[in-house]
Amino acid sequence: MSPIQMVDLKKQYLNIKDQVDAAVLGVLDSSMFIGGPQVNTFAAKLSSYLDVKHTIPCANGTDALQIAMMALGLQPGDEVITPSFTYIATTEVMALLRLQPVFVDVDKRTFCIDPEAIRKAITPKTKAIVPVHLYGHAAPMEEILAIATEHNLFVIEDNAQAIGGDYYFNDGTVKKTGSISTIGCTSFFPSKNLGCYGDGGAMFTNDDSLAELLKMIANHGQKKRYYHEIIGCNSRLDALQAAVLNIKLPLLDQYIDARRKAADYYDNGFTGHTKITTPFRAATCKHVFHQYTLILEDIDRDGLHAFLAEQGIPSMIYYPVPAHRQKMFDAFGGSNYNLPVTDWLTERVISLPIHTELEEEQQAFIVNKVLEFINR
Ligand SMILES: *Cc1c(COP(=O)(O)O)cnc(C)c1O
Repeated sequence: MSPIQMVDLKKQYLNIKDQVDAAVLGVLDSSMFIGGPQVNTFAAKLSSYLDVKHTIPCANGTDALQIAMMALGLQPGDEVITPSFTYIATTEVMALLRLQPVFVDVDKRTFCIDPEAIRKAITPKTKAIVPVHLYGHAAPMEEILAIATEHNLFVIEDNAQAIGGDYYFNDGTVKKTGSISTIGCTSFFPSKNLGCYGDGGAMFTNDDSLAELLKMIANHGQKKRYYHEIIGCNSRLDALQAAVLNIKLPLLDQYIDARRKAADYYDNGFTGHTKITTPFRAATCKHVFHQYTLILEDIDRDGLHAFLAEQGIPSMIYYPVPAHRQKMFDAFGGSNYNLPVTDWLTERVISLPIHTELEEEQQAFIVNKVLEFINR
């Protein structure tokens, strides 16, 4: 059995090495490092994959969120409703723009933002909702869009962990996560479901004028070179990363199948163990398992983490401190929030290795070791 990785980027690379190496060498040969055909092709292909009108590539997922909030004209003091149970990038950019993050609780089963909590948090200052499709499970977009329409709010999807996922509406419509709201944002960080070999990100929208604005902001606020109409930043996906993504995008569905198969294997391994809750899969979405996250009850979670590490099994706590408890948010009243589900989950979640190259032998070993710990 080969060593177990949380995400095995090396093994995945070796399986596509010839294609990737050729594509990367092609970029070196062209010496078109910024912009150019690789980037344009990738944006077009991703738009068609997601069935969205515009894909605007940028430097990383954090920038994507920031640029989205800038493009929507959010102003200091505007309230943005968001989960606290997420990666810091989601809410950090709000602080950076001096927006007021309004942290709400999540659904205990899906780990995603709770629509009832959103309703309760709305005030006259609320301007936007930022749901996160956490771990690859879609947030309840149908309810979120209904609330947004009712209260005239923007919705920005943080799709960094769920690219390739589907959301099923009541009327039978199926949409890709990231393509559902005002603006969708994603990351191509190497360990994400569609990862490049460095940093990368993108924004998605069906709105032509918003697309124009997103492009301008990501490019120093200019449409015409050296004529800067609005305040922007410098956020680009480079051609080497786009070349890698052009190889990997056609494999995304296959990668998702591999992740879902690995999740099924774990699910089976842990059924019947009352102290372990395996990931819930709502009927409204296709889970793409960026993470495979268990909830443990009456188990020493941190003890299990240490025990697994001794056995050569990596595991992760995503995330050990929720956003509202981060020092960063002291000045934003973070400590005033009471989010019982978020705190409850924070103490009980553990994510096991999941990736496209995980072997059954490795999974059997992981399952056995987890059970050995909880049964001892
Ligand atoms: C990874 C991630 C981001 C940020 O992406 P970067 O490319 O690392 O900037 C944002 N939100 C979530 C939920 C993420 O997992």
